Amino acid sequence: MQRKIKTQGRELFFRESYEESRDAFRKAVDHHQAPVQSFACSALGPDGGPLTVDCAMIGGNHAANLVMLSTGLHGAEGPLGSAVLLQFLESLRLDESLNNTRFLLIHSLNPYGHAHGRRFDAENIDLNRNFLLPEESYSGSPEIYQTINPFLNPQKPPQHFSGFLFNAAYYIARYGFQKVQQAIAGGQYDFEQGLFFGGHTASETKQIVEQNWRSWIGDVRRVIHLDFHTGLGKWGTYQLLSNHEFSREHQAELQTHFSHLPIMKTQENNIVYQTKGDFGHWCHQQSAEIDYCYLNAEFGTYGPLQMLRALRNENQYHHWFPGVPNPEHWSKKNLLEAFCPTSEKWRNQVLEQSEQLIQQAVRYVRSE
Ligand SMILES: [Zn+2]
Repeated sequence: MQRKIKTQGRELFFRESYEESRDAFRKAVDHHQAPVQSFACSALGPDGGPLTVDCAMIGGNHAANLVMLSTGLHGAEGPLGSAVLLQFLESLRLDESLNNTRFLLIHSLNPYGHAHGRRFDAENIDLNRNFLLPEESYSGSPEIYQTINPFLNPQKPPQHFSGFLFNAAYYIARYGFQKVQQAIAGGQYDFEQGLFFGGHTASETKQIVEQNWRSWIGDVRRVIHLDFHTGLGKWGTYQLLSNHEFSREHQAELQTHFSHLPIMKTQENNIVYQTKGDFGHWCHQQSAEIDYCYLNAEFGTYGPLQMLRALRNENQYHHWFPGVPNPEHWSKKNLLEAFCPTSEKWRNQVLEQSEQLIQQAVRYVRSE
């Protein structure tokens, strides 16, 4: 099915900017004689150019199995997602070994964040906290978040020395690491300029996904959906996260095909936290009548405090720095490094693993 890619040199799949990533994606899809569907967002790129969510369906129209690869929900995580798709398209050979299988590739679910080097969209929304179900409301925030809001979201430009570690250590000692992490990253709907804000309403991205979900799924019988993320877990390796409880049989089946067993976010553990408005949970709810499986492929970069510090500084810069935004500002560069390290070793390693992961997903969806 796939042409072998050399272990080294994979870093060439990473592009400098959102525009270059998108152009390369469109070209690579064109090479497979497939159309690209582009959905425009109202915000613009740093140079005033359009921002789009780009999707490509490759393979038989009436295939029973679908491999969905989505990327860039958290803008600044888009460079890895884009590299994953470019590598996949480069190696893809549609032959009889893939009959009855098609691929839906989604490039940059948050093009604003990808283009502007932010985790959030143009409305400061963390899109993985925005996919609420109809019975849920865009309101409320954890008590601990309210208490530590002045520390998390200072209303002034970022400073190199701001006592971040000292304050973080204080709150961790007071509440415990897990509780603080859950309160901060679980999602909040009160502080519009704060970190992990889930929005007051459905985001543009959620609307695009909602409007297209039915046609993307079509009449397939079985779906494996890999959603690529970075910034949580150990450097240069990945975890598969799910917000959905699998049955014992389903777990056993996943275990036979995937080298990493999925971790349920609902389980008590000290790495993962539960989130409201989770994209995967929403997708799962839309697909009750088919055999649908969502896995968040989360590739680790730096430690949680370093990640939080990078997010906090960039958020302060975005909202409180006077004057014209400068993409070269240290807080912007630190954020990009946090979510997509420049280390060649990291880049090669994660792309090698993502290639294996996609192969496992293909075998899984085609089994039975
Ligand atoms: Zn993410």
